[in-house]
Amino acid sequence: AAKRGGRDRVVRYRPELRSARETFTRISAGLRHAVERGELAVHYQPVVELPGARIVAVEALLRWTPADGPVPPDDFIPVAEETGLIVPIGAWILEQACRAAGTWHERFGTSITVNVSVRQLAEPHFADEVLAVLDRTGLPAAALVLEITESVFAGDADALPDALARLRGHGIRIAIDDFGTGYSSLSYLNQLPVDILKIDRSFVPSGPGSDGDHAFTRAVLQLGSSRSLPAIAEGIETAEQAEVLHALGCRLAQGYHFAKPGPASQLEAAFARLNPVRTG
Ligand code: C2E
Ligand code: MG
Ligand code: MG
Ligand code: MG
Repeated sequence: AAKRGGRDRVVRYRPELRSARETFTRISAGLRHAVERGELAVHYQPVVELPGARIVAVEALLRWTPADGPVPPDDFIPVAEETGLIVPIGAWILEQACRAAGTWHERFGTSITVNVSVRQLAEPHFADEVLAVLDRTGLPAAALVLEITESVFAGDADALPDALARLRGHGIRIAIDDFGTGYSSLSYLNQLPVDILKIDRSFVPSGPGSDGDHAFTRAVLQLGSSRSLPAIAEGIETAEQAEVLHALGCRLAQGYHFAKPGPASQLEAAFARLNPVRTG
């Protein structure tokens, strides 16, 4: 069989292809029962204001820990999207996050930001379900931010999917996640019907460096400020990065330097450290 040539041989004898398919099958089989088995959890990571690092928002990040140990989101989210399992899982995390966010919103005025995949937006009742979650949890629309990626626009930079336009009409804000890694060029920035930009960590300056190194970040911040579109710099790991960004005019940041994602109890500790409630 090894002598057989052509496409047939390529398909049959590439072990990395077989193992990729096995991984996909294993992950999708496990994910199917993740909610009912209680294997999913939500971690929360602060978004802070520079330079003081007061927490102004919190991002909800999905965690999956089946019996044989945690699986990173970058491994299981694509499988959840391809199989459609992201629809029930996304509904689950939205509800958990909005429920948890209520007291933080009341105590600290923070908003909650939840990642939404293109697959969820394609569901006919997506907007109704989001509004129903706000109803059930009592969270104000102004306290919810939905994070989408540039792929939502797929070349049509001024058209927001109907569901998002409707939610935006209710006061829910829309953020573009991983900005700079997708389709939208800087020239579209003025048209994008969104409220917040999250600059992908691959564009975040590693240190002082030359002007050229900071060109993208600087341009996003300038264009953003000209139409008052706040930008959040993702993946800040050092004090030096935080200083450089602040000097470039960036007001909002997220990253391990300020706080790592963690369970709600860890976020409470971050609030106590970064947003101390003044008395007297
Ligand atoms: P994202 O939405 O861009 O989330 C930020 C990711 O960067 C998170 O990875 C976070 O843990 C990580 N991060 C934060 N600060 C730092 C830092 O200083 N350095 C580095 N190296 N990384 C940092 P995580 O939690 O592994 O999630 C990865 C991606 O999975 C997310 O990227 C998002 O696209 C997706 N994801 C996570 N939860 C959900 C969800 O509930 N729904 C959907 N649709 N996607 C999700
Ligand atoms: Mg995100
Ligand atoms: Mg992302
Ligand atoms: Mg991101």
